[in-house]
Amino acid sequence: MKQLINLVAILITTSVAIAQNNPVPSKGLAAIDKTGKFEVREFNRHPVGDNDILIETMYASICHSDIHHVHSDWRSDEPYPYVPGHEIAGKVIQVGKNVTKFKVGDYAGVGCFVNSCGKCDYCKADMEQYCTGGRVLTYASKDIYHNDEITQGGYSNNIVVIDRFAIKIPKNAPMEKVAPLLCAGITSYSPLKFSKVKAGDNVAIAGFGGLGHMGVKYAKSFGANVTVFDITEDKRADALRMGATKYVNVNNPEELKGMDDSFDFILSTIPAKYDMTMYMRMTKFGGDFAIVGMPALINQPTVTAGNFVFTPNRNVYGSQVGGIKETQEMLDYSVKKNIYPDVEIINATPEAVEDAYQKVLDGKVKFRYVIDMKTLK
Ligand SMILES: [Zn+2]
Ligand SMILES: [Zn+2]
Repeated sequence: MKQLINLVAILITTSVAIAQNNPVPSKGLAAIDKTGKFEVREFNRHPVGDNDILIETMYASICHSDIHHVHSDWRSDEPYPYVPGHEIAGKVIQVGKNVTKFKVGDYAGVGCFVNSCGKCDYCKADMEQYCTGGRVLTYASKDIYHNDEITQGGYSNNIVVIDRFAIKIPKNAPMEKVAPLLCAGITSYSPLKFSKVKAGDNVAIAGFGGLGHMGVKYAKSFGANVTVFDITEDKRADALRMGATKYVNVNNPEELKGMDDSFDFILSTIPAKYDMTMYMRMTKFGGDFAIVGMPALINQPTVTAGNFVFTPNRNVYGSQVGGIKETQEMLDYSVKKNIYPDVEIINATPEAVEDAYQKVLDGKVKFRYVIDMKTLK
């Protein structure tokens, strides 16, 4: 009897598996042009290669970067139509013959990039995000390892990815909350680790959205005293609930008084124009100021040489997501410590995504919209 059940299981698996070398039919929510309009589109993904896995997407979340991309805020040659999404969590439904990292039925995540050269100094140092030999972003990126096809992201029913660029997700993790960790989680976690934030440090998080609220949770878990900066009263209670000791409404000058030279570490996640020099001054002598928020090209903050000279000996640096090894470390840490984003689940319809984009732009998101991909029709 057991043998019979096994045989049936094999037959079922074989029938749903997509034959090796065949393109994988896929469907997703595609951005049509820079107005932010979405449509459901069908397309093909490259075949599941020997080192690839096929993931059935369960959840994909909306990062502010998606909105910048879709609105052509960062480049003028976005390859419309394309499917955005680089915070992806799902179930492995097929594996290539060389794959040992995953088996069918495992949970897997995909973040901001899906391939790199594997040979440059950055790749060798587990910092594939900075690969100089050809990294491939998860969407709207030319995939030099697959005939220059344009990558299609996570607002879709499936994704094919090389196994070493997929993150293992433990079975007990709440999948709807895991997706945002793949970008918002790692992007805030990585600089906190790089700057060796520790118990008792004074940390500031500037910009309290998807990335910022994860920054608060991680910094708090490291034992830091956390101050949050944002431009609204609406988020004060949330910041304090998440463990911040102080909330500063930047639009209220009274609250900013006496804060220069206060912080060992500041993380800026601000996606709009802002006074960067104010945060440089608030960083302590010898402290670190890490920038992860990337405003639109027409809204970049201005910093002069004088600003650096007259706020001396602060370490100001930028940071992009994290390597695969560190992303796995972050995910395991988050699951172990029960650190997850605050999420709002939406349906996989063009209207719901367009509405969510507008709410993010209006500062009304608390704190990450997650698309339930099984509702895609
Ligand atoms: Zn992102
Ligand atoms: Zn490389």
